[in-house]
Amino acid sequence: MKSILDAPFMTEMIRTITNMYNHGWDERNGGNISLLLDEALVREYLDVEHVLRTIPTCFTAPALEGKYFLVTGTGKYFKNVQYAPEINLGLVRIADGGKSAELLWGFADGGRFTSEFPAHMMSHAARLKVNPENRVVMHCHPANLLAMTHVHDLNSRIFTRTLWQMCTECIMVFPDGVNVLPWMLCGTNEIGLATAEQMETARLVVWSQHGIYGAGADLDETFGLIETAEKAAEIYMKIAHLPWKTTITDDQMRLLEAHFGVKAREGWLER
Ligand SMILES: [Zn+2]
Repeated sequence: MKSILDAPFMTEMIRTITNMYNHGWDERNGGNISLLLDEALVREYLDVEHVLRTIPTCFTAPALEGKYFLVTGTGKYFKNVQYAPEINLGLVRIADGGKSAELLWGFADGGRFTSEFPAHMMSHAARLKVNPENRVVMHCHPANLLAMTHVHDLNSRIFTRTLWQMCTECIMVFPDGVNVLPWMLCGTNEIGLATAEQMETARLVVWSQHGIYGAGADLDETFGLIETAEKAAEIYMKIAHLPWKTTITDDQMRLLEAHFGVKAREGWLER
């Protein structure tokens, strides 16, 4: 059987995590990622009948029964993942209607998955309903998006419109916009449910004064989504206190829609 450390999904996960850390998005143990894997792919690297441990999840997610996820560990630092993946990452299979996860590889120091596992799993279930190709849920703490939640209106449409106005590419990269949650207690099923509900209409969900969730078909797409929104927030934070002479207008955004064949979220451009 092939070594799981050589699996392309493993090297890409480690590369993405390291890149996120290098972007300053994941200080200390901040941030977490879950990557949905096809069973046939997992079978190339692991005996899926060999369960190392069963870990309770404290939630239900029947839609994810039997699904496999590579996920970051609770309390683990992104900066260390590349040096000790088998301690900082785990590969689990969802069992018992979502009430437990069977560990097949990793968390070698006795650890367990991220404390935000409920938000991840509920978000996967929500995104899979909208897009069966969704594979990734990613959470991190980019400074400018976080800063923006201190000084900007938190209405999702108004927040999104500001981001769209900052850089021309934004409306093409995330035409579905960004949904914004108010400050909530993290690590709970409540914030998991709230995030999943917002994930039904957008691939980006901001947690005010905390960070952002992104979802996508692969690690690159999801990273790029967050990267683009964070760049727009950076522009906003550079100019928010200056007099605005010009910005991208709704007419210009409609030109982008027509030329690039994208459709902005219904009703979010001025008519
Ligand atoms: Zn966080």
